[in-house]
Amino acid sequence: MDNCIFCKIISGDIPSHKVYEDDNFLCLLDIMPINPGHTLVIPKSHTENVTTISKENFSELMNTVYDLAPSIKTATGATGLNISSNHGVSAGQEVPHIHIHIIPRHDNEEKVFPTRGKYSPGEAEEILHKIKSCLQKN
Ligand code: AMP
Ligand code: ZN
Repeated sequence: MDNCIFCKIISGDIPSHKVYEDDNFLCLLDIMPINPGHTLVIPKSHTENVTTISKENFSELMNTVYDLAPSIKTATGATGLNISSNHGVSAGQEVPHIHIHIIPRHDNEEKVFPTRGKYSPGEAEEILHKIKSCLQKN
């Protein structure tokens, strides 16, 4: 897709540090790593996020993450990994081409997530009801 930086990397127009590549996926080092070895797993076929990718392709994407994660952990000497993905601008997605982050983590590092909230009375039931209604429609 025009103007997509990951599509340009996949087509070879922009260089990258390739961790792994096959017919359907390109895995590369993030250019601004949270820690060395921070890897992005990217499907070669352009689609924006989890609401636009097919179930089959999303499963394949996660299978690739599964195959890579142990090697990234061992190679970096990490004691843990964050496996995360942002879907949509409001969720922090900067590149609108779906990808999964594999981030090596080490003891005594700061945690990445903001402070957790608490549900007010009835709020959990309300959101549960909304999610379950949507699940029934699909
Ligand atoms: P997200 O915020 O989840 O969309 O993540 C996009 C990631 O892509 C960021 O962590 C960027 O550092 C990374 N990124 C952007 N441009 C490049 C590039 N040319 N090569 C490798 N990683 C990149
Ligand atoms: Zn793209």
